[in-house]
Amino acid sequence: MSGIYIHFPFCKQACHYCDFHFSTSLHKKEAMLNALKKEIKLRKSEFKDEVVETIYFGGGTPSLLSMDELRFLLDEVYENYNIVPSPEITLEANPDDLSSIKINDLYKSPVNRLSIGIQSFFEEDLKLMNRAHNAEEASRCIKEAQDAGFENISIDLIYGIPGMSNERWIQNIEKTLAFQIPHISSYALTVEPRTALEKLIEKGRIAPVDDELAHQHFLSLVTILKENNFVHYELSNFGKPGFFSKNNTAYWLGKKYIGIGPSAHSYDGNHRGWNIANNPKYIKALSNNELPLEIETLSKKDRYNEYIMTGLRTIWGVSTERVVCDFGMLSKQHLLKQAEKYIKEGLLEIVTDKATEVLRTTRKGKFLCDGIASDLFLLNLEK
Ligand code: SF4
Repeated sequence: MSGIYIHFPFCKQACHYCDFHFSTSLHKKEAMLNALKKEIKLRKSEFKDEVVETIYFGGGTPSLLSMDELRFLLDEVYENYNIVPSPEITLEANPDDLSSIKINDLYKSPVNRLSIGIQSFFEEDLKLMNRAHNAEEASRCIKEAQDAGFENISIDLIYGIPGMSNERWIQNIEKTLAFQIPHISSYALTVEPRTALEKLIEKGRIAPVDDELAHQHFLSLVTILKENNFVHYELSNFGKPGFFSKNNTAYWLGKKYIGIGPSAHSYDGNHRGWNIANNPKYIKALSNNELPLEIETLSKKDRYNEYIMTGLRTIWGVSTERVVCDFGMLSKQHLLKQAEKYIKEGLLEIVTDKATEVLRTTRKGKFLCDGIASDLFLLNLEK
């Protein structure tokens, strides 16, 4: 299984916390579409033996694409790649772009999964983050998407927003549950370097992010969603059975993907690639039939560390058998020795899953899993 990710690097306005690659000036949109189309074609040989099961439009804000533009890119994908009969095709969408006409057109298109950037159902949170939509649009677009017939809907919610009480956070979760949405991605608000949020906090115009409050929000989220039959299948992702994101699951399980567009990343099992994060340079390179792509060969140590990092974030955990098979017995010994103290503290556990020994985080360890993973990393391993 493999996937194609298409990065559409434009947004209407900049959210204060965002450090993704995007531009708010849309005048290069047409040139960008032609460059994306060119890259889709130029890279087809990388997947000549692959069958593509997922196509994901991310960004930026790909819901700014018109239906014709979306079709223009999808046609090029279908023209050049081997696609399964019923692929998962996701479009990241912002509520303010989802008019009822657009939703109905999307429902008639090959897009079969919407990932909607709600972030909060409350006006004060949306304003603080400088989101382009308002609270009314957040609720309206979900209802209209469901009325149109979309079942596979995911929404993004942000917790740990300064000024957001635990009560307001719980109301956000309850509003989500009332819509009976089958998938939720939820992230703590983080203050990335050089973002507007960082500057506003420095100037005292927004209160600093409170890690303790964010932890409380996370625990409320995990508890309430579990009571409502969601599976917490990745640190930030919760799904009803049958509605896990196939695209993201493939990333976490180490499947191959091609990332199209400026700043998009690619992975083939042994190499990681990333495109230049600059729209004019990206467009210029493609107009010269060049791929603005840098590639790094992953060492065994890199692959081991990556497996531990992603494994501990998911319900599938880290298979000790796979560690022996791919990285050797010494790596397993290192892993279990380093894991010992976390097992004693109840943050990690060893379970048997389908006759395989698996190391995974406990409910208590989930919030800390990135820190725990880095303690299990290998510092040296033969290339
Ligand atoms: S819409 Fe998404 S990509 Fe664009 S600025 Fe906001 S968070 Fe970033």
